[in-house]
Amino acid sequence: MMTGAGHYFDGTTSARHAVTIETGPEALRILRPDGAAVGEWPYGELRAQPAPDHVMRLRRAGGPELARLEIHDPALIAEIDRLADSLDRSGGTERRLRKRVIGWSIAATVSLVLVAVFGLPALSDRLAPLIPLSVERRLGAAVDTQVRAMLDTGRSDKPLECGAADAEKRGRAALDTLIGRLEGAAGLPIPFKTAVVRRREANAIALPGGHIYVFEGLVSQSRSPDELAGVIAHEIGHVAHRDGTRSLLQAAGLSFLFGMLLGDFTGGGLVVIAARTVVQSAYSREVEAYADLYGVNLMAKAGGDPRALATILERIAGATDSGSTLWRDHPETKARVASINAMAAGLVTPSRPLLSPPEWAALQKICG
Ligand SMILES: [Zn+2]
Repeated sequence: MMTGAGHYFDGTTSARHAVTIETGPEALRILRPDGAAVGEWPYGELRAQPAPDHVMRLRRAGGPELARLEIHDPALIAEIDRLADSLDRSGGTERRLRKRVIGWSIAATVSLVLVAVFGLPALSDRLAPLIPLSVERRLGAAVDTQVRAMLDTGRSDKPLECGAADAEKRGRAALDTLIGRLEGAAGLPIPFKTAVVRRREANAIALPGGHIYVFEGLVSQSRSPDELAGVIAHEIGHVAHRDGTRSLLQAAGLSFLFGMLLGDFTGGGLVVIAARTVVQSAYSREVEAYADLYGVNLMAKAGGDPRALATILERIAGATDSGSTLWRDHPETKARVASINAMAAGLVTPSRPLLSPPEWAALQKICG
């Protein structure tokens, strides 16, 4: 037997009575706070009424038309769903699910034909913009777990993600301010999830669905908030252009499509392939140039220095061993720096950095 809280409406007055609900063997028992019984509703006579998500609204067949029970407790709702076969609250869900599977089956079949006709790279370019954001978010979440495992070397006894300890919280707040400026200017339909992680490389990566990982080494090698923001703005460019999703489509190919078909990205090798692709983030020069262009414009829109990306790029690429994939995998740095500066030529260079000096000092200590 399970007990939980609910509300009872007697159908004659508008009063809402707090009640205790017990799941008896044959019926729901509704009790007043003083323990007196309000009623017993046999499971077979329960009828579900339209209700918002996460709320169960019940009526008793043959009972007063407006008398009803409202339950918010998820455990109790699940138990009543289990006990009362007549409710069939899942019927609608099942029908929706069946429709979706049919939809995805058609999509997968069409995709197979298209792969045969166009080849995978060209198809990935065409498909990436069509993938619903909800699917991209789920894919991102599945890849995220794997990416974290790959980033976490386990050498430090501190957590992978910086900003949680008391001494790091002001840094986290400063990061949120910086990201907020960029996010507000970008106005994308994808909410960002940004974290600084304990990795020495001067790098940043973007996952499908809006996860952005900034490496500790990038924070420490940035000489101004705008330099750091410039690199993050470039990564936001990859998110906006859905480059991660496109490269996953290319790398994982058909297994991605079947993952979509089954609505399950968590199983098997797909996620591992996907995570490796994202961490290596080896995009073509053209894709990088578009992300640079996006980043430069975003920085200008956010009131930051549109040249800052070129400044940090030039400095770090000039260092003998930055130990960083960001710069190694971004070829022809000199040409890139020149073209970023050309893109920024007509844009205003602000007189103030994106963060105040105390905020920037705090952000530099985000990893303690
Ligand atoms: Zn890039």
